Amino acid sequence: MMLTPLNFDNAFIRELPGDPDRGRGARQVAGALYSHVDPSPVSAPRTVAWSPEMATELGFSEADIASPFFAQVFGGNGMLEGMQPWASNYGGHQFGVWAGQLGDGRAISLGEVVATQGRRWELQLKGAGSTPYSRGADGRAVLRSSIREFLCSEAMHHLGAPTTRALSLVVTGDMVERDMFYDGHPQDEPGAIVCRVAPSFIRFGHFELPASRGEIELLRQLVDFTIRRDFPHLHGEGETLYADWFAEVCARTATMVAHWMRVGFVHGVMNTDNMSILGLTIDYGPYGWVDDFDPDWTPNTTDAMRRRYRFGQQPNVAWWNLSRLAAAIAPLFGDIAPLQAGLDRYVAEYSLQTRRDIAAKLGLMACRDDDVTRMETLQQLMHQAEVDMTLFFRALSHVDLHTPQLQPLRHAFYDDANHDAVEADFLRWLDDYARRAREDAWAPEQRAQCMNTANPCYVLRNYLAQEAIDRAMQGDYEGIHSLLDVLRHPYEEQPGRGPFAQKRPEWAKHRAGCSMLSCSS
Ligand code: AMP
Ligand code: MG
Repeated sequence: MMLTPLNFDNAFIRELPGDPDRGRGARQVAGALYSHVDPSPVSAPRTVAWSPEMATELGFSEADIASPFFAQVFGGNGMLEGMQPWASNYGGHQFGVWAGQLGDGRAISLGEVVATQGRRWELQLKGAGSTPYSRGADGRAVLRSSIREFLCSEAMHHLGAPTTRALSLVVTGDMVERDMFYDGHPQDEPGAIVCRVAPSFIRFGHFELPASRGEIELLRQLVDFTIRRDFPHLHGEGETLYADWFAEVCARTATMVAHWMRVGFVHGVMNTDNMSILGLTIDYGPYGWVDDFDPDWTPNTTDAMRRRYRFGQQPNVAWWNLSRLAAAIAPLFGDIAPLQAGLDRYVAEYSLQTRRDIAAKLGLMACRDDDVTRMETLQQLMHQAEVDMTLFFRALSHVDLHTPQLQPLRHAFYDDANHDAVEADFLRWLDDYARRAREDAWAPEQRAQCMNTANPCYVLRNYLAQEAIDRAMQGDYEGIHSLLDVLRHPYEEQPGRGPFAQKRPEWAKHRAGCSMLSCSS
């Protein structure tokens, strides 16, 4: 049995120092950026979902995907010519505290594919068994969290937010024990493996670890490698090159977070080990989507007390994470002014993106200072009145600018009493908004068209993912397929797909998996 051959070029392990020890045992790995480790075999791998776009990009045919050998390879039981599996070594700040060495505890990279037009894609299995970085854990992933990672990676991509991708979701046929809420009730759950795909899986934590150990030459090697492989458009040398690179990391991170804020995505665990150097959304764990607009909301029960990673805090946390990266690479700089400049670039870029998004979301030709205030006032009202973020913005283009009324937005309110209490305030806001929008010489269709590129119709609401998970737990994977299908075109109203663009139902408000998620995955 054969799959279409892929062209592998495993630069990370070819060009950077690795761990001489080839064992699987948990250990501290100094002076090296990865360890060679094979996936551990599983009993009965079966491909239950895949991304057609990602398969095409890599060069896989439908026959490849359907082949049992595909499930063997992407379930960790087989290798393709050119694969050389490894787990990478990184550290990180978790919830604001330096956590030391973490590393790929359950992610195993298979290789770097060079696909069409020279695009590089690293293939990485998540849940393929233990590695030297597993720290006593099993290196596996459960079906529910694998479905969530698979769906959200692709949903984010189609929303236009930078993200790691997902090629496949394979069920393993083995059970995995998890204590979902860390409350002493472990249960067996079906295991699964997602093959995720990105040009690079290098994280901020990859730089922090050697820096923390005083391994400055290793740090420099990694920075040089990252610029060469992942930022090939950057030229120059020495500190100037490093400064340009850091500034670009800052700008990309700003873009990523601005997209999150635009679509209502809450990452949930923005630790520095979960921050990609390419500014990609990475490590989908206890993430969630805002239903009723609430800057204080976090889906992560592990973070429920301090809410460090709540929705409205994400732009600040990203800045803080970048400041940790700056501290890590500071030994490569004689003068740290360029690092400060990079952090300032983050602020400037985030503000620029936000203003673009305000204009687009409100259907304005450009964002003025008073429009920033206008958006803030609206968000306060939405918060106060419990208004569904996605439904509200999508429907805002239906408001008639000459006789503005709340009626087209009525379905976005969660609570009638709240609606009545803020009705007058909302009408005042709408009047002012309509007056402002009328200043732009746009036909209503033009305005709607602009708004529909920034205000998605379909997002991966937490309860929708949970419904697909519930079905999958009964062996029915159709829910995953239909959800993925809708999410492939999030900005287009799709006939018959109304149920995917509705308010969160009441039952989902307090149900585990829908409103509360833990890191247990
Ligand atoms: P996360 O919170 O998912 O970003 O994970 C933090 C660290 O814990 C990373 O180093 C992971 O590789 C590791 N980790 C999480 N779950 C497991 C697991 N089941 N087995 C081994 N390592 C894990
Ligand atoms: Mg992680």
